[in-house]
Amino acid sequence: KAEPVSMFAEGWLKRIYEEKPVKEVYTRFPPEPNGYLHIGHCKAIAVNFGFAKHHKGVCYLRYDDTNPEKEEEKYFTSILDIIKWLGFEPWKVTYSSDNFDKLYELAEELIRKDGAYVCHCSREEVNMQRGGPDNRGKRYACEHRTRPTEESITEFRAMRDGKYKAGEAYLRMKQSLTDPNEGNPQMWDVPAYRVVENNHHHRTGDRWKIYPTYDFTHCICDALEGITHSLCTVEFRQSRISYDWLLEQLDMKVPKSEEKGPMQREYGRLSVNGTILSKRRILMLVEGAKVGDRTIPPSVRGWDDPRLYTMVALRRRGIPAKAMLDFVEELGVTDSFTDIEAPRFEASIRKHLERTVPRQMLVLEPIKVVIEDFAAEDDQDVTVPYDPKGGIPGERKVKVGSSIYIDRSDFREEDDPDYFRLAPNKTVGLYNVPFSIRATSFEKDASGKVTEIKAVKVPSSERPKAYIQWVDAATGIKVTARQYNSLFKTESPNTLNWKDGSWADDLRPDSEIIYEDAVIERGLNQLIKANSLNPSGSSDALVRFQALRTAYFCVDVESTEDKIVLNQIVSLREDKGK
Ligand code: ATP
Ligand code: MG
Ligand code: MG
Repeated sequence: KAEPVSMFAEGWLKRIYEEKPVKEVYTRFPPEPNGYLHIGHCKAIAVNFGFAKHHKGVCYLRYDDTNPEKEEEKYFTSILDIIKWLGFEPWKVTYSSDNFDKLYELAEELIRKDGAYVCHCSREEVNMQRGGPDNRGKRYACEHRTRPTEESITEFRAMRDGKYKAGEAYLRMKQSLTDPNEGNPQMWDVPAYRVVENNHHHRTGDRWKIYPTYDFTHCICDALEGITHSLCTVEFRQSRISYDWLLEQLDMKVPKSEEKGPMQREYGRLSVNGTILSKRRILMLVEGAKVGDRTIPPSVRGWDDPRLYTMVALRRRGIPAKAMLDFVEELGVTDSFTDIEAPRFEASIRKHLERTVPRQMLVLEPIKVVIEDFAAEDDQDVTVPYDPKGGIPGERKVKVGSSIYIDRSDFREEDDPDYFRLAPNKTVGLYNVPFSIRATSFEKDASGKVTEIKAVKVPSSERPKAYIQWVDAATGIKVTARQYNSLFKTESPNTLNWKDGSWADDLRPDSEIIYEDAVIERGLNQLIKANSLNPSGSSDALVRFQALRTAYFCVDVESTEDKIVLNQIVSLREDKGK
């Protein structure tokens, strides 16, 4: 089979390279450290790190930390961790704040070049200057726009030194506000610096009372780091003109040319329908919420709850890093939005798991079956390959004993001609066992629940109509298995009312189903051991397997030797578990 062509070697990303075919490619992934990464960021990581790697260049991780109010240490750590998990290594880890001094100097330089001015207008006044609420009115300059350069320098320093409160002064870029032909709002004198009230910064401490805006910071940091291809999402397309404008003002780029300085290009965002990606909303799920007199308890276990689509959640759920990257590759990269449904994502993951993970026998709701005519010679270890089709190397020894567990759903007290699994007087096959079994009787407890089944062997010459999974009672391992459904009843939870708390009425009570008494074949221990010995030091070393007739699972990271917890990764088929 031919190797698929990489998304960097053809199509949109190839053309982006050809627009600026430099020898040494420099890219960056520039997250704001104000939240956990989500599935959309995986695309941004794949694009930026992948582009550099493909062209034998390098990619920075640059924390875009210009918003001191919203940043927290835990996000920094988590972001780097996810990048490494995906298999990438930043060439350097940098911070926009590394450049605060330089940015300040460049701001003064811009003022001196008559490219910026300190403005004291209110937000309402600025909106009017920018054409009013619908941006259609006549645009005009305020008195500050033409103030002498020296005065702006003095005022900018006053801003720096704490003379103004937030909102009382801005440094605005002197772009094309008054040009009636300039239709792009990004060129209508957008702010370069603002006063921040709550200004303690995790790296620069209390040094700065003013902070640069995205529009001022991003392009300059790109230029300072020698970024060649600055790849971002399409909502920044209209910013490309101000990006270039500012760099040209500072002689960091040449008009109408990509020879010097960074080139910004925009690719389509990725979003997965039916999932909540907004930080604010996930926070309500994680921490619970108080709306009016209503108190909504937390709906998930944390930011890494396997029902979420944050990267930490997808990792914990057991999605392999490689499968995440393959998924992005499969969707491809162009400049249009990629809006997919969750089942498509799951199908892609399933395809990957199908070819890569061993099989195991797991019983979620066990009933004991005692095989009454089990003889000494029946007691044996059967060698079973991890993959019946042989695609996945390895094998384990499956113990066959006189008492086994089967799943409650595989037994019926009353037989039916259309039913092919175990029932009184009916025969069913057991995977990997040389004989089948026929139920002879069963017992129930006071509540009417079947507690034990008695059965006899049936020679393998009588072929059963169906085979089921089972676990040896003496050697099986008790585990807790968690199966997941979508969090909400609706397929479009983003359209719920997130203001009045009524979103909580749409939560599915069965979004997580916990089987406390599940049992799995002892071979799981072998997989866990092999994994812990994994010498490759792979960052993606979770134990994953296909539980026959059940679902794909992984061993949850919080498992201990005494208590193993399994997470469902995806169902076996699309219709199941929905
Ligand atoms: P969100 O508000 O959803 O967290 P963001 O754009 O504020 O998204 P950043 O931390 O600023 O998040 O993003 C870092 C990089 O990831 C940016 O280059 C951004 O364009 C990119 N990115 C963010 N969301 C997506 C997405 N859904 N698909 C592709 N790239 C994305
Ligand atoms: Mg952002
Ligand atoms: Mg963000």
